[in-house]
Amino acid sequence: MRCFATLLTTDSYLPGALTLARSLRATETSHSLLVVVTDRVSPEARDALSRAFDRIVEVPVVDIGDAGNLALLGRLELGETGTKLHVWNPDVVGADVERLVFLDADTLVLQNVDSLFGFLDGGAEFAAAPDVGWPDCFNSGVFVCRPGAEIFAALMEHLLTVGSFDGGDQGLLNSFFSTWSTGAPCPTATSPFRPTARLPFTFNVTPSAFYSYLPAFARFHTDISIVHFIGSLKPWNMERGWDGGVAKR
Ligand code: UDP
Ligand code: MN
Repeated sequence: MRCFATLLTTDSYLPGALTLARSLRATETSHSLLVVVTDRVSPEARDALSRAFDRIVEVPVVDIGDAGNLALLGRLELGETGTKLHVWNPDVVGADVERLVFLDADTLVLQNVDSLFGFLDGGAEFAAAPDVGWPDCFNSGVFVCRPGAEIFAALMEHLLTVGSFDGGDQGLLNSFFSTWSTGAPCPTATSPFRPTARLPFTFNVTPSAFYSYLPAFARFHTDISIVHFIGSLKPWNMERGWDGGVAKR
């Protein structure tokens, strides 16, 4: 089985998660939609999610045992990071899910993206698109993975022993899948984990304030499948003024 999944750790991202689900349905996906929530998400938000997604699963922000270890490491802020890792956990996503596409709640699907699952056809363990800030790193807002008890355990172990170089899931996952930019087998993910694959940028198009390649945008913009509203300002916190401009609410 294959499914799409997103994460909601706080009600503040609810408009994003609902819009993402609507965009996946509007582009006629043939796969089911899962939303992973934490205990901080309110009953009202869960009610809205239950109408937009096929399944809601609650996960701990971080396992109790891991919380102890994180406290020992003085890295309690990594609890949030651990939350996204639960999409590898078969107990959370379902043991029958062989491939999963994770999408941040601040992504929007513009064209059918069911082809994303096919990026693991060559045997890859994981696929993601480059980050505009540092293209040798992938952006962790959109990825394709194979859930499994073994790789979930290895990721949790990596979180506890190595940690994240940016304090978030992106630094952690780039450190785990450290050879993503070259496609070489991954030294941290020893056998039986397979190599990683690169997704086209059109599956995770992020705006860049300091550099934009406008001729490439003009050439390829009709291919854009997913836009990702990275950064602290999200579209649901903006409004359009009478003059057509957008400003923070
Ligand atoms: N998230 C959430 N509530 C928060 C922060 C993050 O639900 O307060 C979830 C949500 O799925 C979000 C993802 O974690 O898309 C990653 O955070 P964000 O998208 O803000 O990071 P960015 O893409 O801006 O680096
Ligand atoms: Mn995001």
